This record gives sequence, C-alpha cells and structure tokens, in this order.
Amino acid sequence: MALIITDECINCDVCEPECPNEAIYPGEEIYEIDPNKCTECVGHYDTPQCVEVCLWIVFPKILIMSKLKRC
Ligand code: SF4
Ligand code: SF4
Repeated sequence: MALIITDECINCDVCEPECPNEAIYPGEEIYEIDPNKCTECVGHYDTPQCVEVCLWIVFPKILIMSKLKRC
C-alpha cells in the first residue's frame, strides 16, 4: 500500500531523493506519491524513508483516523 502526502506539504523537495523507487514527484500543487511505484521501501530499508524525513507523509489509515477525530 502506498503512502500519502497530505495538504500540509510545503514543496521543500527533501523527500524526493530519499525514495529508492523514484515514486515521489512534484504534483500540480504539492508533492505526490505514485502508488504503482511505492513499495513502502520493502526490500530497501526497514522503514519508509519518506516518513523518516517528513511529518506530512503518512499511511492512508492514519490519515483517515485523523480526519475522523476532527469530525
Ligand atoms: S512531502 Fe514533506 S519533504 Fe516532501 S516536499 Fe512536501 S513537505 Fe517536503
Ligand atoms: S515509502 Fe519508500 S517507496 Fe514509498 S514513497 Fe516513501 S520512500 Fe518511496
């Protein structure tokens, strides 16, 4: 399952070079993750490298839970 970049992204470019699969790219407004390329870093690292460098990259389940809490 691919990770998600939230609307808080400030286009700082830090995450893009960290991805071993070149799954992160600049979208129209903020950076985006190609779900077909993101493997959660399995086979490369023990943890998702983009999550290590940015607070605004999350697992989809966590994003849904945080939105539910705001309701
Ligand atoms: S997702 Fe995070 S690290 Fe990547 S460009 Fe946006 S703010 Fe920067
Ligand atoms: S979890 Fe790994 S493969 Fe997926 S976007 Fe982040 S750095 Fe790239």
